[in-house]
Amino acid sequence: MSTETDTDVDLDAEARRIDREHVFHSWSAQAHLDLPVIAGGQGTTVWDHAGNRMLDFASQLVNVNIGHQHPAVVKAIQEQAAQLATIGPATSNLTRGRAAEKILAKAPEGFEKVFFTNGGADAVENAIRMARLHTGRDTVLSTYRSYHGNTGAAIVATGDWRRMPNQYARGHVHFFGPYLYRSEFWATTPEEESERALHHLERVIQSEGPQTIAALLLESVPGTAGILVPPPGYLAGVRALADTYDLVLILDEVMAGFGRTGRWFAFQGYDVVPDLITFAKGVNSGYVPVGGVIMSEPIAKTFDERVFPGGLTYSGHPLAAASIIGALDAMESEGIVDNARRVGAEAIGPGLKELQARHPLIGETRGEGVFWAMELVRDRETREPVGVDVIGRLKKELVARGLIPFTAENRIHVVPPCVVTPEEVAQAMSIYDEALGVVEADAL
Ligand code: PMP
Repeated sequence: MSTETDTDVDLDAEARRIDREHVFHSWSAQAHLDLPVIAGGQGTTVWDHAGNRMLDFASQLVNVNIGHQHPAVVKAIQEQAAQLATIGPATSNLTRGRAAEKILAKAPEGFEKVFFTNGGADAVENAIRMARLHTGRDTVLSTYRSYHGNTGAAIVATGDWRRMPNQYARGHVHFFGPYLYRSEFWATTPEEESERALHHLERVIQSEGPQTIAALLLESVPGTAGILVPPPGYLAGVRALADTYDLVLILDEVMAGFGRTGRWFAFQGYDVVPDLITFAKGVNSGYVPVGGVIMSEPIAKTFDERVFPGGLTYSGHPLAAASIIGALDAMESEGIVDNARRVGAEAIGPGLKELQARHPLIGETRGEGVFWAMELVRDRETREPVGVDVIGRLKKELVARGLIPFTAENRIHVVPPCVVTPEEVAQAMSIYDEALGVVEADAL
């Protein structure tokens, strides 16, 4: 008589069944989900229980910067778990302190403290709260094309494209950031786009009344909303406006930070230093959920004598802290950020240009490091975006060929881990090429 073991059961079918029956998924109509099973992974590759391999060109949710199952991060978590698996926030702990120190070592001069959260959205919530308490003002200006998280203030700060129509609240005002391909400013060059977007922002600040505004909140490179690499002078211009009107500049580096652009922080390429930096995702590649706010000295000092009215049970969790130390040490010693920069410039960028030359469906490609978007259009002249039907079909064709894609609106984002190799990029490019070819015939 045989007993049922894992080898007898189709674990992939079982994973799908149990997921469909009992797991409620984000951002989805539950009845129509068909999600890939992931049972294991290494670097840029993941696999199901049967061993079918897939290239993870989404880095899950654009967060697995160091790749899957990096041994140094796994070991750091295991060792910390063996020593002290949990601890409350109102304690001094060496691992937590060292994690903060490592993060601060990557930030520019003048940053003093790290407030740890559970992820990106609550990092944004707390950065907004700090800015409001620091200035004594209420309004937060953020861009229509943004994503800042799915909690109270973070989703209200997020642009209209992801917010429900009634998700609005006092104290939030939106403005248009630069996006030359679909310019709101009738601009035809990056310089024009930059100058006019800054003029627009200054008019919004003046109209709202600078004396009511606490902060400007922007992603250094807007990610989910399109990977909108800022044009020359834009972020430096935003800094200048923040200085002129005495506003706190919060740069959201949750997606763009910790290597994705080929730099530790995305803003380091744009001649700008913010007052608060929000981070999550790439800081430890999501091996343990964590995020936080990096605070410049003047804002940190606000709370030297005055109570900061906020906190989280798991703020600075020791497993998260250990994983941050493990991840940042490995990224540094293995040159992983530099790899992202090089592979982006030498393989992904040129690969996407080649695809664009072959496929009229691609209206624009843009990005840097391992942070790229292909914007798909029905017509290159009118730039009419393709619909969800086209993106849905493409997604299926890509998955069928062994690539996990990241899609948003009419775009495919090419966002592999920072450890991706030129060979893996070449493999991915030929998968994109085939899938685009199959779908294009019907789409145009
Ligand atoms: N800010 C940005 C820029 C993000 O991309 C995200 C997540 N995609 C968030 C905040 C929210 O992070 P989380 O999902 O960890 O709450």
